[in-house]
Amino acid sequence: MTRITVGAADIDFESIGRRDYFIKIEHPTKWGHYVIPMTIIVGAEAKTGKGMVAFGSTHGNEYEGPVAIKNVMRNINNEDVCGRVILIPVLNPSAFRSGTRDSQEDNGNLNRVFPGKKDGSITERFAYFVTEYIFPQVHVVLDLHSGGQLATFPGVSSFHHVEDEQQFKDMQSVAQGFGCPFTMFYQDETPGLLTSTAERLGKITVGTELGWGEAVIRDGVTMGERGVLSAAMFAGQLKEGPLPDKVSSDQKLVDGSSVTASHLAPCSGLFEPHVVVGDHVQKGELVARIHNFEIIDEDPIEVRASMDGYIICMAWHARVTQGITVALIGEQVEWSNT
Ligand SMILES: [Zn+2]
Repeated sequence: MTRITVGAADIDFESIGRRDYFIKIEHPTKWGHYVIPMTIIVGAEAKTGKGMVAFGSTHGNEYEGPVAIKNVMRNINNEDVCGRVILIPVLNPSAFRSGTRDSQEDNGNLNRVFPGKKDGSITERFAYFVTEYIFPQVHVVLDLHSGGQLATFPGVSSFHHVEDEQQFKDMQSVAQGFGCPFTMFYQDETPGLLTSTAERLGKITVGTELGWGEAVIRDGVTMGERGVLSAAMFAGQLKEGPLPDKVSSDQKLVDGSSVTASHLAPCSGLFEPHVVVGDHVQKGELVARIHNFEIIDEDPIEVRASMDGYIICMAWHARVTQGITVALIGEQVEWSNT
């Protein structure tokens, strides 16, 4: 595979065939660029503004997504692409290089600065590249995250609640394609997300949490590969074909958007979980205890479930600080896409 290095304005999104690029994003202060690896495959039936894009490593220390997308890049049969498939395994080469969630160049979090800025910091420039050059080419957007150092998950695909009924149904179908044990819709208050920006442009948008702990979890890679391929098929951009087996045959849809879903650490200390992700809990049940070792004879502070539901996310690191999310509970709801 020979990669050609081009500026964003010189990407060929139209010609039939496959192109493997490094996209130059000019560094704001140094004499040079960061380069984003990107493969585009265009088939004979590609239509303007229609296509599927999959992003990995929006955060630099989340690794199942980049590995899954790289596997798809190598294994996809170019002739099976009838529309437009865009694969970007490492969207944030700055944070990926340092193995950190945020960029060390500007302390920017790429998933908080959308829609980005043409002449902004390097992180804002990565976001601007996506908003300005990639979003207009596609109608399906996948952003593959994992828990990094923050949290552990049971394998989750996710999206926000949107008003448009068809978009909401389509997002359920694409999210289901990952074959995860859980799909969740969640609060849409956080500003600057890649996914929220795409959703508001009317795109069928799905995010994921495929693993945790800065590891490469086997099931997470499988879910990622399945999700990317099935989304491309659902979007009419890839001919129907075989998919990896689902990691879970019992896929649950949960609502994690209520104000009671998110459980914050009431104090700083060491986090002792009493349940594991994927468990069902009842309101009032003990989820975790937080230990303060500066007052050694004091009872630990309890975190109890504020509602019935499934544990969709839990703190990963032992050390937690007051106010950080240590658990998220999702209430099971019916799928409405069929
Ligand atoms: Zn992330």
